[in-house]
Amino acid sequence: MRRVTVDALEPGDAAIVGVPWDEQSSFLRGARLGPEALRRALGADSTNWCTESGRDLSEEPRLAHVGDVDLTPDIPAEEAIATIEQGISAVLKRGARALSVGGDHAVSYPVIRAHAAVHNRLSIVHLDAHPDLYDEFKGSRYSHACPFARVMEQGLASRLVQVGVRTATPHQRAQAARFGVEMIEMRHWSQGGLPALEGPVYLSLDLDVLDPAHVPGVSHPEPGGMTTRDVIAVIQSLRGRLVGADVVELNPTRDPTGITALVAAKFVKEIADRLLESR
Ligand code: MN
Ligand code: MN
Repeated sequence: MRRVTVDALEPGDAAIVGVPWDEQSSFLRGARLGPEALRRALGADSTNWCTESGRDLSEEPRLAHVGDVDLTPDIPAEEAIATIEQGISAVLKRGARALSVGGDHAVSYPVIRAHAAVHNRLSIVHLDAHPDLYDEFKGSRYSHACPFARVMEQGLASRLVQVGVRTATPHQRAQAARFGVEMIEMRHWSQGGLPALEGPVYLSLDLDVLDPAHVPGVSHPEPGGMTTRDVIAVIQSLRGRLVGADVVELNPTRDPTGITALVAAKFVKEIADRLLESR
């Protein structure tokens, strides 16, 4: 995969952007190491660069990575949020598509803000064990438990479809009702259950939507989740509509065999395939 500067991106390119920020993680740190672990897993000798559709990404000139958003450690949350939004906006201004790699889920609020500035009536598909709809969590409104409350109160999406949730609290259920969130809980999920979506689609993929049996390397393992194949099927169902995506919550400090990074890399390849075919 080419490493390029953002200025070298061309319209129609898909750019992998690292967002190494985990200071809004409420339980464990380590997700800031996710982008580097994921790039290493993408190049792992145990596998290759072909997507399941047959696209060889090693020979795909439109796929590139642009390194990480430059985040100084311990900067205030507002500053980090603004820096992340600017970093993604710079990619989108080139006419390229951004595939952001976290970082904890707090990165998705500024990443989605950048997309909402370019795309009207965004539909968000959000895969997660958690609704991430808290108004605030442990004193922060930018916590990784809050990004979709910020997205919805600012009208950044016309639809938010959550899939795989299995930890919703009464407060988060009230927030979902307030914002009109379509929450498909894990206990009710079956493959093919995603509603038909009009217009541009953004995918936010929190790796803890998977059962911890598949991905030990996350900060909030929550039993009773999806299989790797379930998530691949959701990604592949988004044909022709995907304009941007993030993969978040890879925590390499909890991933001794590196299997979680390999699962994340598999998703990144399948998502890149969708981004490259979208018009
Ligand atoms: Mn999340
Ligand atoms: Mn989660």
